[in-house]
Amino acid sequence: MAYQAEYIWTDGSLPTAQLRSKTRIIRDGGPLPIWGFDGSSTNQATGFSSDCVLKPVFSCPDPLRGGDNILVFCEVLNPDFTPHATNTRAALVAAATTYKSFDPWFGIEQEYTLFQDGRPYGWPEVGFPAPQGPYYCGVGGAKMPGRDIVESHTLACLSAGLAIEGTNAEVMMGQWEFQIGALGPIEISDQLMVARWLLERIAEDYEVDVSFAAKPIKGDWNGAGAHTNFSTKQMRAAGGWDHIIAGCEALGTRVKEHIAGYGHDIESRLTGAHETAPYNKFSYGVSNRGASIRIPAHVARERRGYLEDRRPNANVDPYVVTRLMLETVCGAAAATKAPAKKTTAKKVAAKKVAAKKAPARRK
Ligand code: ADP
Ligand code: MN
Ligand code: MN
Ligand code: MN
Repeated sequence: MAYQAEYIWTDGSLPTAQLRSKTRIIRDGGPLPIWGFDGSSTNQATGFSSDCVLKPVFSCPDPLRGGDNILVFCEVLNPDFTPHATNTRAALVAAATTYKSFDPWFGIEQEYTLFQDGRPYGWPEVGFPAPQGPYYCGVGGAKMPGRDIVESHTLACLSAGLAIEGTNAEVMMGQWEFQIGALGPIEISDQLMVARWLLERIAEDYEVDVSFAAKPIKGDWNGAGAHTNFSTKQMRAAGGWDHIIAGCEALGTRVKEHIAGYGHDIESRLTGAHETAPYNKFSYGVSNRGASIRIPAHVARERRGYLEDRRPNANVDPYVVTRLMLETVCGAAAATKAPAKKTTAKKVAAKKVAAKKAPARRK
């Protein structure tokens, strides 16, 4: 039987890539075909040499069309099949291979803001809604606009087989969150992209736009983030605490690189107010929602588990944030484990000091 395959990819829009998709009718079995698109219409090529290649990398049932129809997430390649400049997934695949032995897990909390007629969903035409306070995990009356969209999206993710973990209303009216994971770096990123696409597609039916902007409304209104929870097998095992602290210390050595990769307009969001730490001041702490990295209270109690990087924006590229975490945290741990490498000797010495310091924090 013929079925519809929705090929989804990320475009070359600046400053933040957008999702695009088109439908292919598949008539015969076999592997999903390589496809292509006009890159000159997506800021990915010039009109003179416009063909870009779509390579299927992840597929799942299409919960909206049902039947045999599927969603297909794709990497974008150049005509010679090398990764396109906008393809951030290829670099993650390389890093994930390098650090496979750490068995890394990620859980991402995707916040977003619904918009209609140029203002957050449910906001009055003139002026502002009542100040923040009652909306976070709220219920009742006209103060929770968007719940229908959230409910349909959750059901759609479940029937697509995505690892959605939960949802909640956020601090600003019209702002919501879903969590996905915990999964490996490539799996979480592919699934998050498909979950974002489903959200935008479902909101379409309500004539609502989904914004992943970091600070959609200036002033005393919360921004939108994508807290990234991360663990290695060492952090999850007994004695994991020291590995969690070493991970926090490693993250403190590459603040600029991480902030640069955590999404457009991060300076507007990470101000130090609204449950954020300033983007240029690194900190970590147990249960601290004003720190760059939070170690959840239950993790501190059990002395193992994971850390939460609170800095990534809602508009972060998941392939970039997961790659940075692997390179920084697993990279430092690998260097500590293998001090034989001459080139990294200095780095190793620094890490050893950090590792020694860690147990003192236990008291
Ligand atoms: P918060 O209290 O910060 O709002 P959430 O409940 O929204 O936390 O999200 C927590 C996320 O952490 C979930 O996506 C979950 O999958 C993820 N998580 C739980 N355990 C781990 C782990 N060991 N490694 C990585 N992520 C994890
Ligand atoms: Mn959350
Ligand atoms: Mn949140
Ligand atoms: Mn969080």
